[in-house]
Amino acid sequence: MRDFSQDYSSLALNTATLGHNLDGQGAGWSPEKVIEGCASRGYGGIVFWRRELGNRAKDLGQRVREAGMQVVGLCRTPFLTGPLAFPSEQEIMDDFNRSIDEAAALGTSVLTIVTGGPEPDSKGILESQKILADRVAKAAPFASERGVNLALEPLNPAMAGNRTILMTAADALNVVDQVGADNVGVAIDVNHVWWDTTLAETLAARANGRILGYHLCDWLADTSDMMLDRGMMGDGVADLKAIRAAVENAGYAGSCEVEIFSANNWWKRDPNEVLDIIVERFKTVC
Ligand code: ZN
Repeated sequence: MRDFSQDYSSLALNTATLGHNLDGQGAGWSPEKVIEGCASRGYGGIVFWRRELGNRAKDLGQRVREAGMQVVGLCRTPFLTGPLAFPSEQEIMDDFNRSIDEAAALGTSVLTIVTGGPEPDSKGILESQKILADRVAKAAPFASERGVNLALEPLNPAMAGNRTILMTAADALNVVDQVGADNVGVAIDVNHVWWDTTLAETLAARANGRILGYHLCDWLADTSDMMLDRGMMGDGVADLKAIRAAVENAGYAGSCEVEIFSANNWWKRDPNEVLDIIVERFKTVC
């Protein structure tokens, strides 16, 4: 396992940690200020959300690289299935392709997919997974031409009603298999997989070379909100070192992005304090 206690160049900030993906949340730092705050502390990279980019993807990507960091990823495609997706497949695919273009302009090789829930008028999961695989397969060549890899992220089962049809790493890898494209893999997020006692086994057997991202936070024992009460690493019950060992044993050697949605705690703090604490926790408990 990599040792982060001295070298933490693998640390990346997902800007959701500063509340940037929701209106009226966080301290409202501009992307430029976030870049400066991360670079000055020795972070290795940043992950943006589309809503922060406007038409500045190219410039912001360049600014990150000039500051000595990488753009580790872009969040995210539109929902590809389910009740929260655009009403027509055409609209879904158009926005999917736009998100791929934005990732390419930003100069990142990873675009995260949060799938959306089961299709309206369907029951269960498997039928919707087939539709998902079909839509990802249609977009994969377009992404490949632009140097963009697509990362299917399984979400905690609590979000399966309308936000996901992938609840485990095994679910995500099943769809990766169905798609059958070299530039499609999975993203592993502590918030979503910490409870899964079969994770290490699944990744060891099936994920080699197919993990495209690793997302850090912690699961608070008394979590008060399924989406907006994630914990800082070290404050919860997830076995962070064991999860990272499972991810690295499957060949992952990329960045570890800190992604903490926390409306009532971390989003209310000074981002300078949040960025400092992340570095400390990354070096000691991750
Ligand atoms: Zn994530």
